[in-house]
Amino acid sequence: MDITIVGAGPIGCYAGYLLAQYGHTVSIYDKKKEIGLPIQCTGILTSDFDQFNISLDSCLVNTVTTIEAFSPNNLKIGIQQKDYIVCRKRFDSFLADKAALAGAKLFFNHSFVRREENYLVINDGINNTQKRIQSDIIIAADGPLSPVAKAYGLFHPSRKYYYGIQAVVEGNFENNVTKTYFGKDRCPGFFAWVVPESSTRARIGLYTTKNPKQHFDTFMFDNGFTAQEIQAGTIPIFNHHQKLKKGNCYVIGDASGYVKATTGGGIVPGMKQVQILVDCINNNKDFEKEILPLKKRMKLHLHISKAMNKFSDKDWNKLFRYVNQPKITKVFEQYSRDNPVPLVMKALLKEPRFLYFGKYLY
Ligand SMILES: Cc1cc2nc3c(=O)[nH]c(=O)nc-3n(C[C@H](O)[C@H](O)[C@H](O)COP(=O)(O)OP(=O)(O)OC[C@H]3O[C@@H](n4cnc5c(N)ncnc54)[C@H](O)[C@@H]3O)c2cc1C
Repeated sequence: MDITIVGAGPIGCYAGYLLAQYGHTVSIYDKKKEIGLPIQCTGILTSDFDQFNISLDSCLVNTVTTIEAFSPNNLKIGIQQKDYIVCRKRFDSFLADKAALAGAKLFFNHSFVRREENYLVINDGINNTQKRIQSDIIIAADGPLSPVAKAYGLFHPSRKYYYGIQAVVEGNFENNVTKTYFGKDRCPGFFAWVVPESSTRARIGLYTTKNPKQHFDTFMFDNGFTAQEIQAGTIPIFNHHQKLKKGNCYVIGDASGYVKATTGGGIVPGMKQVQILVDCINNNKDFEKEILPLKKRMKLHLHISKAMNKFSDKDWNKLFRYVNQPKITKVFEQYSRDNPVPLVMKALLKEPRFLYFGKYLY
């Protein structure tokens, strides 16, 4: 089949790689002149990334083994969990190279402009011309604001966003420990993070729905950090009304809002979505149906994050007290945060007092 993908981010390139491997004729278009830039990501991949059997050698910056979480009253909880920290520029380039090696054609400085019936109009910024493209299948992997999803009537109007901001800083860090900080004053509804690239350099950031810059500046000031480099970006909040297919157009990755609402991580769920989509294209299966188990996970992330949004600092402190028991931290160490269903079920069985937070689900 002839397949056009708009967006050469990690999700578009991974889709291009798998589809070209299966013998499809794949073209990937991206408006960027240079892949992976500007960086708008912390580059954390949970160990769930191992399921893709892709070596990260060319883009791995660090591997952390522990997550420390701090409550508003500074109770510290340590959870042993392996996470990979990648350089997003090198990660995106690596996946693009894989797609090209498998036979996909990549076109940079090529922007999707509009749809004209069954054609995509693409602006070729290199030759200053426009081309009209027709394909058997169109894949919108063009990020959180997805112009392609909008053109195909696939962009749900009630979509909402987090705004993330991060800095690269120099200092002294434990190079195998990611630190996360919770609380209404620090970062309402979410958390601030310190992710080490090494013992002397780290990525510091946070997401919120309102005033991210103000919270970020306060967090930087309180911790005595000075930014070497600032990066910012938009993160779609998962919306279970979002449709993923209309006619011959599919929408995936951030374009579809498949981002974990509890952490803002979109790479692992987006790549999982790609695997499901490729199976559906190859075997003529219904994508909306096959995606349901992943959708269920994304929904649970959303419910948890909605509850977290209503927490007072007192609630956070209470939650930390309940989590800070060996029987509970063990559960958190057993399941990666990519799959919250068994984590929540097991934690509830071992500590029924978590039910107190159920009132915030409604
Ligand atoms: C501050 C921050 C930190 C983050 N940290 C993490 C993290 O640690 N781990 C994690 O898993 N996720 C993280 N994320 C989320 C992660 O960056 C996204 O989930 C991921 O980039 C999604 O990949 P994608 O390929 O779907 O979209 P994108 O990476 O956004 O790629 C979309 C591509 O489409 C192109 N495009 C857009 N419009 C057009 C057009 N009209 N024509 C042609 N091309 C177009 C863009 O140029 C872009 O290259 C973070 C996000 C932010 C903002």
